[in-house]
Amino acid sequence: MLDIKDNKLYLDEISLYDIAQSYGTPCYLYSKNSLVKEFNEYKNAFSNLNHTLICYSVKACSNINILKIFKDIGSGFDIVSLGELERLKYIKADPSKIVFSGVAKSDKEIEDSLDYGILFFNVESIDELENINRIAADLNKTANISIRVNPDIDPKTHPYISTGLKSSKFGIEINQALEVYTYANQMENVNPVGIDAHIGSQIFEISPFIDSLDKLIALYKNLKDKGINITYFDIGGGLGIKYFDSDEPPSKKEFADRVIDKMKDLNCTLILEPGRSLVGNAGYLLTSILYKKKNYDKDFLIVDAGMNDLLRPSLYNAYHKIEEVVKVNGDRSKYDIVGPICETGDILGKDVELPKLSKNDVLVIHSAGAYGHVMASNYNTRPKAPEIIIDDGGSKLIRKKDMLSQLMENELLNE
Ligand SMILES: *Cc1c(COP(=O)(O)O)cnc(C)c1O
Repeated sequence: MLDIKDNKLYLDEISLYDIAQSYGTPCYLYSKNSLVKEFNEYKNAFSNLNHTLICYSVKACSNINILKIFKDIGSGFDIVSLGELERLKYIKADPSKIVFSGVAKSDKEIEDSLDYGILFFNVESIDELENINRIAADLNKTANISIRVNPDIDPKTHPYISTGLKSSKFGIEINQALEVYTYANQMENVNPVGIDAHIGSQIFEISPFIDSLDKLIALYKNLKDKGINITYFDIGGGLGIKYFDSDEPPSKKEFADRVIDKMKDLNCTLILEPGRSLVGNAGYLLTSILYKKKNYDKDFLIVDAGMNDLLRPSLYNAYHKIEEVVKVNGDRSKYDIVGPICETGDILGKDVELPKLSKNDVLVIHSAGAYGHVMASNYNTRPKAPEIIIDDGGSKLIRKKDMLSQLMENELLNE
């Protein structure tokens, strides 16, 4: 949350204008206080349940400093690639708190994860299960697995971020799950320890989570009857956050109470994989105005951040609140905020109400912590923006801006 003092916006006592002056724009800015607060909210909300492990979903924002902050307050991690595993090794994350998700784990990803000793793999197909068994056998290890079921639940969110529908590529059809567990249970080098589902992202209703959990619990009981004892329930991530001022996402407490109600009699460890709801509102993108223009009836503010810095508006038509960091009185009118990239879709905000601003004035784009910098690209050969964290009343650079020479580093000029 930003505060306002003497007409200037502040994040944890630091002026956004000063940050823009010191580090240049565009830049990403995170609040350590809010990361810790969001995590502790989850932790406290689930404290009534005996065993809960929060596995922060690394893909939401994977800067090693952010990962280290979560590690230091007891978080585990949910990863989806070798690169993310490498980040966790770098910060010496506890392997027994790491789960590996994703539909396309490569042999190398499986080998390295087994070597590191992760808690379990969330398996998404029979093919993958057989592959994990084969690789574990080669390494003389047993791989703990959980099966990601596709519960066919509509999470009532954006179709691109719905992952538990019949039509999606994710998970194993719930009706097949019993058979797959039985198969896994007979495998020499695989040990089924968990049940997993992740139904989507930016979810505002608790009932889809509960409907999904009900299906998992029914499966759990069927497995028990067959002598397959599961000890982990991984219910994924997906809890929504506030983007619009009018958004009212469920609180972590409400979510927890409903989940605990279902889980309390099962003697299992609950695993959560929140991403967006831990980092989304802790991050901001600062950008400066380069030019103003009017085309026909539309007023544009052309800024120095583009879809290469923040892809969500172009990719999902997502809304991010945008405002000026130094408040100006007077009439407001509507502008489209667009970036420098040569694409019509390079839009950060449509019809944003702003006062009269001029070149070099700074805007803040809210709720940019999740799926922000991690989705940044070098399109148009633009450097990725630096990342800064506010911690202990000061600001620290946690990722340098790309240097242009780096952008050509891997290219080979054949002369
Ligand atoms: C992306 C993802 C998450 C995190 O989702 P959020 O909506 O950011 O909480 C958790 N689990 C899996 C398997 C994912 O793919």
